[in-house]
Amino acid sequence: MCSLNRCFDIVVVGAGPVGLSFAASLAQSQLEVAVVEQNSIDRLANAPFDGREIALTSASIRILRQLGAWDTIPASEKSPLYGARVLNGSSTFALRFDAPRASGEPLGILVPNCHIRDALFKVVRLGDEPLLLCGHSVVRATTSHKGAVITLSDGMQLSARLVVAADSRLSPTRDLLGIGADINRLGHSMLICRVRHEGAHHQVATEWFDHHQTIAMLPVGEGMSSLLLTLPSSEADRLLAFNDDLFLLELTNRCRGRLGKMELASNRHTYPLVTTWAHKFKAPSAALIGDAAIGMHPVTAHGFNIGLSSQKQLADAILTASRHGRDIADPAMLHRYERWLRLSAAPLYHATNILVGLYSSEQPVARLARHAGLRFAQHAPLVRHVISAMLKR
Ligand SMILES: Cc1cc2nc3c(=O)[nH]c(=O)nc-3n(C[C@H](O)[C@H](O)[C@H](O)COP(=O)(O)OP(=O)(O)OC[C@H]3O[C@@H](n4cnc5c(N)ncnc54)[C@H](O)[C@@H]3O)c2cc1C
Repeated sequence: MCSLNRCFDIVVVGAGPVGLSFAASLAQSQLEVAVVEQNSIDRLANAPFDGREIALTSASIRILRQLGAWDTIPASEKSPLYGARVLNGSSTFALRFDAPRASGEPLGILVPNCHIRDALFKVVRLGDEPLLLCGHSVVRATTSHKGAVITLSDGMQLSARLVVAADSRLSPTRDLLGIGADINRLGHSMLICRVRHEGAHHQVATEWFDHHQTIAMLPVGEGMSSLLLTLPSSEADRLLAFNDDLFLLELTNRCRGRLGKMELASNRHTYPLVTTWAHKFKAPSAALIGDAAIGMHPVTAHGFNIGLSSQKQLADAILTASRHGRDIADPAMLHRYERWLRLSAAPLYHATNILVGLYSSEQPVARLARHAGLRFAQHAPLVRHVISAMLKR
């Protein structure tokens, strides 16, 4: 008999897209699962547009389909990406990555983050499990090899065999578990909005590393793109304060007419850029998934893709253990999960950070290196193939 307020097999902290996917992965099991989320249930049920357009790989689409979430996302919100080009400064040279023509498959599909959250929320709400405890944050977490006890902001205590933190890259639960992390605040922010424009995008994304700014243009519908402007944070805040007319003028100047005449098609959103790598992805009776484990720089569009595969890896191990009557927080199992995540995510995480360093530096050597790098990659099919495979996986 449990002496605490509530007892569960698993408590998940954070109902972001990764926490919700994990809960959905466990939904058909016999396990008793609770999800704790600081936001209200209304906000979860009506996830507002947050500017993020998530480029999903085919592996991620497969997972979302298995969870029953993919088909509930309206077709009008899925924008295929048939190519990407990378530009450097004022050079007209572009490095291109194209989807292989023979397969007819896109490089990825862009879906607004709010629609992914919405679809996963609907899946999670369909069944009796898991229990959603919204409007609460976690204020204390104690774990041992026997289990975990979580205290919520209203004083309620939950016990669980396993606590899983999915509460963002600045994860308070990770701190409470005593797990350190390399946290890099880059001093830059991404300012994002949708624009309608005259020029055609042909479903091709553009990443343009210009002097003192990076602009990404993602095709999100007929005549519409998501513009992502990376700037020093103080500069992004200055632009955020502009009225719409002034902001549009500023965008048009910064894009140097690449999309033709533009008009705003959404609110603006900013994200201070922070990358994180937790020192451990597990503790006794605890594990980290999603951004709480690894918070990627968005430039290579892989944070959620890695998060989705991390939750699947952990959920599959738990389901197997549960089916065979084994411990769902077995230290050896958590160790295998940690090792898998470290090995599978480290190359992309470090390659992304090197790319960011090279492309955000204004040093003449860095400028020369990126110019040479793009030319080299264009004439080295193997390099382009490896990068395309990394983007698609
Ligand atoms: C501009 C931008 C563009 C991106 N583009 C891409 C892309 O194209 N492809 C891609 O794969 N990834 C992309 N990403 C990354 C992706 O958005 C994240 O990897 C993903 O959202 C991580 O999901 P998560 O559920 O782990 O964390 P989050 O989305 O951060 O969700 C965490 C949840 O935990 C809750 N929470 C926090 N603290 C507590 C607490 N103490 N108690 C209870 N609840 C708590 C929060 O309210 C939130 O609901 C992008 C990110 C940004 C910023």
